Order: sequence, then structure tokens, then C-alpha cells
Amino acid sequence: MANPPLTPPITPRPGIMDIAAYMPGEAKLDGHAEPMQLAANENALGPAKSAMAAYTEAGASLHRYPDGAATVLRNAIADAHGLDADRIICGAGSDEILSFLGRSYAGPGDEVLYSAHGFLMYPIITLTVGATPVAAPETADLTASVDALLAAVTPKTRILFLANPNNPTGTLLPVSELRRLRAGLRDDILLVIDAAYAEYVDHPDYDAGAALVDEGENTVMTRTFSKIHGLAALRLGWCYCPASVAAVLNRLRGPFNVGAPSLAAGVAAIGDTGHIERSRAHNFAERKRLQDRLRQLGLNTPESHGNFILIRFADGDQAEAALQAMNAGGVIPRRVAGYGLPESLRVTVGTAEENDAVVQALTDFVGEA
Ligand SMILES: *Cc1c(COP(=O)(O)O)cnc(C)c1O
Repeated sequence: MANPPLTPPITPRPGIMDIAAYMPGEAKLDGHAEPMQLAANENALGPAKSAMAAYTEAGASLHRYPDGAATVLRNAIADAHGLDADRIICGAGSDEILSFLGRSYAGPGDEVLYSAHGFLMYPIITLTVGATPVAAPETADLTASVDALLAAVTPKTRILFLANPNNPTGTLLPVSELRRLRAGLRDDILLVIDAAYAEYVDHPDYDAGAALVDEGENTVMTRTFSKIHGLAALRLGWCYCPASVAAVLNRLRGPFNVGAPSLAAGVAAIGDTGHIERSRAHNFAERKRLQDRLRQLGLNTPESHGNFILIRFADGDQAEAALQAMNAGGVIPRRVAGYGLPESLRVTVGTAEENDAVVQALTDFVGEA
């Protein structure tokens, strides 16, 4: 392809070309026809059979527009989580919801706040709307710091994005800390709690965010079908928000922003409590086993509350060498230098065989180091 001209006749809005485009985790590995893809936190067990069947059945009606209001899915989500369906908005992945929120509540001159090793989409979305990203430092154990976040607030702050548990660190804030954060923020700052990994949490003082949404007019919780439900390919997510925010998002979103096969599969998935429970149980058991084995090897990993584990090496060279060792064993982990963690790698909790391959590769790596 020809290089783009240096001064193209049409130019994007200021800030767009400052964006470092999101680099997805690798899915291919030279010399391995079927590598172990542990770079994108996908469900180790795959999608539910019921969701696959609903998806296939939707194929017969591809000539029809989807239900733009996503009524059946919103009702199913509301029933499953005990929420008000009128205050649920569905999107093409929770990424789309996050982007709606950015477009609705921030623009040039505004600041959008997040924690230093927060999800990469937050600065990207901030720059797309012409606002200024502001990262607050985390604690030494890579957990978001309520004090540091509050200290970073300025009169220009409009949105605070917080993943809880956070990707890629796996760490979380208990609900008491979330409440302290909300209470310390001005009322005109939107707090977005991104609970993509909520189902994987096993912590007594955790709330995915619905309680805080109900307690005020300025907090939103986002969720996804890409992780516990194993439907990443379909791009399906949702948020629970105050009525005033729902009224905004319903104006901004496309009239048919979620496809019919995604809606159908989502309804089946949210009703398939068997698959959800199997996925949770698998992750609890394998996350613990993998984390224990990695620590036995002397590796440093923060306690994970998601379906992935962050492994911290001495420096970037060590992380690169460990990545090469895993690649040699057919495993693809995720580099997280883009998250400000060049000395770390993130690995999804996979099947038992995949996790064994991770441990084997890192045993070889540690033995050679
Ligand atoms: C995976 C993930 C999402 C989900 O994104 P989708 O667009 O729903 O696939 C959202 N937030 C975080 C922190 C994630 O890791």
C-alpha cells in the first residue's frame, strides 16, 4: 500500500492522530497451527450450546432489522440481575457503551480520569472526543487508589472510568472504597464502573456497581457478554444507568446498534445458568491452581479477581524472554506495555491443558534464567 500523503487534503479533528490505535492480543503464532490463545481473556469453555443454537436460528431472519429497543434482552438481563429494564442500554460490546458515555459527557477542554494501569479503551475514547486523558497513580500492588484518583480531580474533570476488577492487573476495590470514591467526587462527574469481570469475583465486599447506580444520579455500571458468556465474537454489552443517562444514550446510539443474532444469543446465554456456573467454577479452580503454580515458580502475580493473571517480571527484557518461552510452547500471552506495564505479561486462565502448558513453559524459562 502507498504511504499516505504527508498533508492529506482532509484532516481529522485535533487529537485523533495522537491516538495509539488499540492493539488486540495476538491470535496467530508462526509454526503453530492451533496455538493456545490466552491473550484476550476469552471464556476457556467457549459459548453455551444454547447460545450457539439461538445464534444459528437467527440466521433464517437475516433480512429483518433487529428489535432496536432490544426489549427481550433487556428484560432477560433485568430479570437475571434484579434491575429496572428501562435503565438498561445494550451496545455492540461494552466498548460501544463506553464510547457513547465519552461522546455524551466529555469534549474538548474536559478531562477524563482513570487509574494508571486501567483499561486501554479509556484514554482512546477520551482522545476520540477531543478531551484530555488524565491517569492517576496506583498503589504499589497495582490497585486503583481512591486517594490518588480524588487528588487528580480538577474543575475540568467530567468522567472517571474505573474497571473493577481491573484489566490487566486483576485487582479490585471493595464496595466501601467505591462508595468513598463516589462520595469524594463532585456530583457533576460521571463515575463509570466497568464490571466486565464481575462474574469472576469471589470477594465478600464486592458489588459490581448496581447499588451505586441506584444510590445516585451520576454512576453507570457497564457489563459484557464477551467474558463469562463466551460471546466475544458477537460484540454485545450493556449498561445499567440512571434514567437521565438512559435518555441521553438512547438519543445517541444508532437505532439498530445491536444485531439480531447477538440479541438472540445474548438472551439464551443469560438464561443458561448451567453454563455460567460451569464457567465460574472452572475459572475459580483453574485460576487458583495456575496462580499457585506460578507463585511456586517464584513468579510475582497480584491476586487476580478476573479470568486472567498478570505476571510481573524483573524488567522488559525478562518479560520478552518469558513471552518467547511461552510462544515456543505454543502459548500466546498478552504484552501489556501499552498499559504502562512493560515488565509484565497477562495470561488468560485457559483450559487445564492450556494452563499446564503455561506452567511448563515458565518452568523452562525460570530454569534457564
Ligand atoms: C474485555 C473488557 C471489556 C469488554 O469489552 P467488549 O467490548 O464488551 O467486548 C470491557 N472492559 C474491560 C476492562 C475489559 O477487559
